[in-house]
Amino acid sequence: MAEAPACCPVCGTDGMRLIYDSASTSSLSSLCQILPGAKIVRYCEECGHLAGNGVADAEAFYETDYRILLDEEDEDQIYDTSGDRIVTRTDHQMAVLSDKIALDPALTVLDYGCAKAAMARKIAAAYPGIGMHLFDVSHMYEPFWDRFVSKDRQAIHQTPEEWNGRFDLVTSFFAFEHIAEPAAAIAHVAQLLKPGGQFYMIVPDISGNAADFIVVDHVNHFTKTSAERLMADAGFDEIDVDQGCHRGALVVFARKSGSARVESDQTAAKEAILAEAQRLAAFWSGAADRIRTNEAASPPGSKAAIYGSGFYGAFIHSNLENPGSTVCFLDQSPWQQGKTLFGIAIIAPGDLPEDVGTVYAGLNPVIARKVMQTQPWAGRQNLQIVYLEESGQ
Ligand SMILES: [Zn+2]
Repeated sequence: MAEAPACCPVCGTDGMRLIYDSASTSSLSSLCQILPGAKIVRYCEECGHLAGNGVADAEAFYETDYRILLDEEDEDQIYDTSGDRIVTRTDHQMAVLSDKIALDPALTVLDYGCAKAAMARKIAAAYPGIGMHLFDVSHMYEPFWDRFVSKDRQAIHQTPEEWNGRFDLVTSFFAFEHIAEPAAAIAHVAQLLKPGGQFYMIVPDISGNAADFIVVDHVNHFTKTSAERLMADAGFDEIDVDQGCHRGALVVFARKSGSARVESDQTAAKEAILAEAQRLAAFWSGAADRIRTNEAASPPGSKAAIYGSGFYGAFIHSNLENPGSTVCFLDQSPWQQGKTLFGIAIIAPGDLPEDVGTVYAGLNPVIARKVMQTQPWAGRQNLQIVYLEESGQ
């Protein structure tokens, strides 16, 4: 695991403050891979940024190991199921993007850090003829790109010089949290945009997305103040950081300009960020303790299931003293059912075996109780449900 940077990766200020140290021998990636070493988070007093220590040999990790949803073309992640249909993450991202940007087939667009380019493909399908270009730091996505973008509009590791000043719009969906030098990357984006060009970025927000705080490949935990600072320092204006339109994410809009930046007092905003970061540090330390305490109190030989085969479920499994007691993961996602996680079957929640004595709620704490209380087995005798935090917190 790489050491956390001594200097803030956004504003360059020296001497970041230690907020969280998992003190564990391994950490989880955002794809639930177990990687050696602890997760460390530091806070920048100057811009309110939170920086993680990151993955050792990040270049090799993203070239070969970061295989996000490569299995299936149509695979997606669930954003919301509260209505009468499943809304996927890309559906919701498309709705928010369309709301913020006047998309038009005449635009020349670059998707920056696009991975397998699910969003770029969605945009290109909705606006036939749009000038879509793709950029990322791995060759493994090329088979996906080749299906809808010609080779001269693809770039890997570096962009060709003739792309400078070409773009009306640069988009970036969940990429900048992985980039160790975000200030250099945003300067690169500015170079690629036309004067007056628009930049649209979505990154995780630790508010409402506690997992973001401890995943080791997220080297940046952007906050409202640090995202604003990143854009302002790179010469953008019309900066808008929206915390309310995508749960657990910041949606950032900015326009390239050459005008001087306007300073504002962000003391109160930074105090709120620091308090939230300290709350999350306490949450994750407490969650690990709760898992081990409940496990120790269970009768010997009792069987457990983990609800949720995403990050929270993986966190629970990785914190069990005896992970062999877990007989299944439960997940309502049709893309997850039938697969395995750590060699354990992922099944539909309704198929919970009768002899399971403990269900660990491996879900975002914001929704965990609501989801668990609607399960058909919620009131079953001799079944205890373990949450990652006490109610009312
Ligand atoms: Zn900073």
